[in-house]
Amino acid sequence: MRLFVTKPQGYCFGVTRAIDLALKVRSDFPNAKITVVGMLVHNDEVTKLLEYNQISTKKGLKHKLIDFLRNVDPSTHLIFTAHGHPVEFNKIAHERNLIIHDATCKMVQLSLDKIKENLLSGHQVIYIGKKGHPEVEAALSISNNIFLYTNNKDFDFSKITDESPYVINQTTLSIFEIQSYHQRIMQRIPGARIVDEICNATRLRQEAVMKIPGEVDLIYIVGGDQSSNTAKLVEIAKLTHPDSIVKRIKTVADIDVNDLKAVTYIGISSGASTPPHLVDEIIHFLEGF
Ligand code: SF4
Repeated sequence: MRLFVTKPQGYCFGVTRAIDLALKVRSDFPNAKITVVGMLVHNDEVTKLLEYNQISTKKGLKHKLIDFLRNVDPSTHLIFTAHGHPVEFNKIAHERNLIIHDATCKMVQLSLDKIKENLLSGHQVIYIGKKGHPEVEAALSISNNIFLYTNNKDFDFSKITDESPYVINQTTLSIFEIQSYHQRIMQRIPGARIVDEICNATRLRQEAVMKIPGEVDLIYIVGGDQSSNTAKLVEIAKLTHPDSIVKRIKTVADIDVNDLKAVTYIGISSGASTPPHLVDEIIHFLEGF
């Protein structure tokens, strides 16, 4: 089987930092109860790695995690995830004197800081992102003067009274879809100040998928179900390779050998939170097929 494996593969620096931080908390506090508030990164294999190190994960939507923080034993070491977290989390942590280790990715923190700066200087903010994603929840929690522009929903421009609102986005959007959002906003608000906050790790992986040769019969995109950047790689692969079959898989166990019968050339890419050994196992399996 011929394979084309995109580069880069493996964790982005934000995911690497989050995992390293969690494991360091474990080694610094060997007997402590440690819980991640939400998924540290969006990959179940990483969650299993944490469990193996006796680091539990409290999953759930924002209100459930807020309840958890209100009731958790204050001696528990809590880790906030790479995606950022709502301001309410900090408030409760401060009020209850909770022990917090913050794994927020620097790229996410940078975009949250830019939002705060613009709100402070009196501007409205249009935030482009996927409703319910933790990074988006973190951004929207800052102020009621941030307006979410999300998938497949008409945006209510009448709420924007600022002639030069700040326009910013979730770091893991697709480099294609962001352009259409920006065009629509500029048509309605020519004075809008637009920044593109797609992070470099996301951008490089998307560009690499675009460069997969057009002759591949099949493209595997490897990543967790909840991973936004994996979802965008799938979208881009489908858009740029209309003649190839595109499959999203989590591990080698998801490969359906029936898909391989008439296939001679396969492209492989993976999300920024996909453990590298999962991709290696897939490559090894396909090379031997
Ligand atoms: S994908 Fe980008 S924003 Fe998300 S953790 Fe990685 S570097 Fe940070």
